[in-house]
Amino acid sequence: MPISRDARPTRFADLLGQELVRDTLQRALASGKPGQAYLLHGPRGTGKTSTARLLARALCCESPTTKGGFEPCGACAACLAIQNEQATDVLEMDAASNRGIDDIRSLRDSVRYPPVQLKRRITIIDEVHMLTVDAFNALLKTLEEPPAHATFILATTELHRVPVTIRSRCQILPFSLLSKEVIAEKLDRLVASAGKQATPDALALIAEHAAGGMRDAESLLESLLARSDTLTLDIVRTDLGLPEASRLTELFAALANGDSTAAYTHLRSGTADVVLAELLRMTRRELELQPSPVLGRLLEVLLEASILQRAAPDPWIPLEVACWKLAATQQGTPKRAAPKPTEALPLTVVEVAPKAATPPQPEVPVVELQPFIEKDVRKAWAETAKRIGRSNPLLGQLLREAELYTADGSLLTVRCRLKLHVEKLQGKQLQAKILELMDELTQGSWQLLAIHQPNLPKRPATNALSGEASSTAAAVFGTQNV
Ligand SMILES: [Zn+2]
Repeated sequence: MPISRDARPTRFADLLGQELVRDTLQRALASGKPGQAYLLHGPRGTGKTSTARLLARALCCESPTTKGGFEPCGACAACLAIQNEQATDVLEMDAASNRGIDDIRSLRDSVRYPPVQLKRRITIIDEVHMLTVDAFNALLKTLEEPPAHATFILATTELHRVPVTIRSRCQILPFSLLSKEVIAEKLDRLVASAGKQATPDALALIAEHAAGGMRDAESLLESLLARSDTLTLDIVRTDLGLPEASRLTELFAALANGDSTAAYTHLRSGTADVVLAELLRMTRRELELQPSPVLGRLLEVLLEASILQRAAPDPWIPLEVACWKLAATQQGTPKRAAPKPTEALPLTVVEVAPKAATPPQPEVPVVELQPFIEKDVRKAWAETAKRIGRSNPLLGQLLREAELYTADGSLLTVRCRLKLHVEKLQGKQLQAKILELMDELTQGSWQLLAIHQPNLPKRPATNALSGEASSTAAAVFGTQNV
């Protein structure tokens, strides 16, 4: 039997990390007056569907226990029928594939009849936010006057996409991401019940990788246990594409010291994107412990590498470039005093709210690299600048001056020499206009990230409006709008 099936909670006591939901449901069940409609929401893999099934059993169980909290017995005909997915009175529907009004109408018709086999007729609708507007309206009618024998359990990962009218008819149960400790503890029990073995650090790494989702953790564990009876840290690391811990530490140290030769030696092990993600994580953790300009620079270069990685012909190339960049910065500018920790880093992702004062930027040479960008995207960007320029020449000029830096399938990164331009590009109205044109011209769906790069070389002037004077605040933030 696969682990994940084994792992489904069959008692409320097994509902780990969701104490609020558990207590609410147990109290309602013990009072004998449970709600008729529940809406379970939260991130994927946190136990919503399992809880819906558990609640169905608790509602229909013929001899529940109440000692130490309400629990279904797990042995009566009702419990077994639901557990084996053979209960005709429990209808489970996935709204992702049954989203129309006809689906809800037929559901409404079946709900009208009293249950045949169980105490109640229970309808579970997963991914309920996927329903069409008409289907939601039909569902609302049923929820407004539900037959006395009916219970509805709705589940969603996107609560905001469920109409308020529906929400107001349901008791809402929030599911949260699970802590690493809770996940690791559960994995430990699963390993034991499968008669296999795993070291605590191996389980801790699986738990960390699952980022709060129990289902991801369970399926990773399942695939690992299928290949090995004893899980060690090394086995998990290899499976996740992580190099050995010692190699990663050496690589991190070499990068932080700008030692490109050593960094190269330790570079190619594991999987490029995992190595980069791990380096970013390590750098951020180190920065938290001891902020320093060197680590700040490392973070900046790694961030650039991660933006470039998805568009690179070989995912290792951005990491190789990072090695050289760090070496160049540390060895190529010996005369420049190291920036004080309080100084801003040269690459700044500017927040939407403009800041009043900017500290002086340290001069760090820009090592230029031209990432690969599809010709069509570049053409579309130029065309977008042209079209926007027709109704607002200054904004057109701003877009021509901005450098399209990367385009990785969903994210356009644009570099601007002036912070003012970055702030302008963060404006909702302008951004919406740009993305609308880009989406239309490339048949894509883009997001836009504007990055401040003060030492970016000035781009060649394309008409009389360019140059320092036209880029002042007065010119750009003048009376003209998009
Ligand atoms: Zn039972």
